[in-house]
Amino acid sequence: QTQELSQVRIDYQAALYALVEDGTRMVCTGRMHTDRVCHFESLCYSTEAEEFVFFHSNASIMLPNLGSRRFQPALLDLSSVDDHNTQYFNFVELPAAALKFMPKPVFVPDVALIMNRFNPDNLMHVLHDDLLPIFYTMQQFPDLDMDSRLFFMEGWNEGQHFELYKLLSNKQPLLKDQLKNLGRLLCFTRSYVGLTKLTTWYQYGFVQPQGPKANILVSGNEIRHFAKFLMDKLNITAEQGSSEDYIVLFSRSLNRLIVNEVELLLALAQEFQMKTITVSLEDHSFSDIVRLISNASMLVSMHGAQLTTSLFLPKGAVVVELFPYAVNPEHYTPYKTLALLPGMELQYVAWQNTEELDTITYPNRPWEQGGIVHLDTANQERIMKSKEVPRHLCCRNPEWLFRIYQDTRVNVSSLVQTIRSAVKTKIGSRKQRWINGLYPGKVREAKCQASTQGVTLAKLSVSWQIPWNLKYLKVRDVKYEVWIQEQGENSYMPYILSHQNHTFSENIKQSTTYLVWIRCIFNKNLLGPFADVLMCST
Ligand code: UDP
Repeated sequence: QTQELSQVRIDYQAALYALVEDGTRMVCTGRMHTDRVCHFESLCYSTEAEEFVFFHSNASIMLPNLGSRRFQPALLDLSSVDDHNTQYFNFVELPAAALKFMPKPVFVPDVALIMNRFNPDNLMHVLHDDLLPIFYTMQQFPDLDMDSRLFFMEGWNEGQHFELYKLLSNKQPLLKDQLKNLGRLLCFTRSYVGLTKLTTWYQYGFVQPQGPKANILVSGNEIRHFAKFLMDKLNITAEQGSSEDYIVLFSRSLNRLIVNEVELLLALAQEFQMKTITVSLEDHSFSDIVRLISNASMLVSMHGAQLTTSLFLPKGAVVVELFPYAVNPEHYTPYKTLALLPGMELQYVAWQNTEELDTITYPNRPWEQGGIVHLDTANQERIMKSKEVPRHLCCRNPEWLFRIYQDTRVNVSSLVQTIRSAVKTKIGSRKQRWINGLYPGKVREAKCQASTQGVTLAKLSVSWQIPWNLKYLKVRDVKYEVWIQEQGENSYMPYILSHQNHTFSENIKQSTTYLVWIRCIFNKNLLGPFADVLMCST
């Protein structure tokens, strides 16, 4: 045992020596605070000050070195939610010599991923804001492997879905509150701070009304890889089409209820000739829910975070999202956007209750559950009369909360009709399996020759070879797009061609220079890159 202790002491002395000599070293990716993730060696954290500390020595590196722009507004976002002012990360700076006067550092040997969870009690936020970004941040930096450790700095307790976070690494994640028990000054040997935003598809409406992100960078393929990872960790194997088709109704037990659930279940069973199963977060474990959903033909649920579990549905399945009275489905599309990501291969149907008689309101509840009695009577009346919640910002709009927390008596014939008219293929048949489209390369050996005949006629003869990758592919439909642009003009004449050469004579003038742009198109909509522009003078 003495040997073990002395071993620890030698490591400790070496680590302390390295910290004092080398200080903190930081290199980040990303150009803005909103797309930055930083790698640190010897980043420290004072649990008393609740501040991260960067120790300067001769060997310190700080890249980017932003000067005071580091505070405008921050070095980076600690959560995956863009530029949210409660989620900023920064550190304070000290000379390494100050360590002499500070508590003895406690070294964290694990490679650390330091971040904020955004809202750990809401399943949509858990999966979209935390788990997917953590998973792909770990893919981005290979030393964030299963032996690394997550540090949640947002300050919440474990929350309702902590078990899911535990699936991402073999080490127990640590919460901000638990760091105090480890020591007064913690020093992370190797750490990454921040999360990738490449996988998020929705913005919650902090600066503009909620909606899909402007530039979605994730496809269903990556979502499904992540889903597969979680299912492996939960010991769930997706059955391959062998079993019976069934419909899952995901119900909520506390609020936003479907008051005629039994009638709805019977009607769905009758209409689609399938077994129906009800699940809820209150009554089922997460793995039971995923097991059921991963083989379902259809998932039906009121709008709400539980619908994020549609990312576990098999390809070809149908997502049916129900909206309460006065809530426009087009304005709240996190689950629609997910279902329709290319490669998710889900069908999506929205149904809205349009009958005021079928809604049950709760004006007397507390404001956060949609109550409105705290408002003045004019406002209450306006809200009660309104037939649609106008677009609004997150998160405390009383009219929105009032409407979204209504219960609904689902008009089953209206719903069945909506599903029938939206879903054309046979429900339960999972054949819809085409391979994700591959894009053409550049056309090759593009050439252009101008010729003139007499005083008025001019022609451009353009030819090219097929893209290099085409000879390895079976493509149903190969076309070429050629743009002919007069030099100095903004407009161009576009042509779609099937062959690898063409002579253009319409609208071709003499003594003029033309720019010729050529690209290949697979199957009508897979546009390749343009080849280097050709210049051609008549
Ligand atoms: N939730 C639930 N049953 C309920 C009410 C809520 O399972 O009766 C879950 C919901 O799926 C989410 C969390 O509790 O994960 C918070 O629900 P909230 O209504 O606040 O958010 P929303 O579902 O509208 O995103």
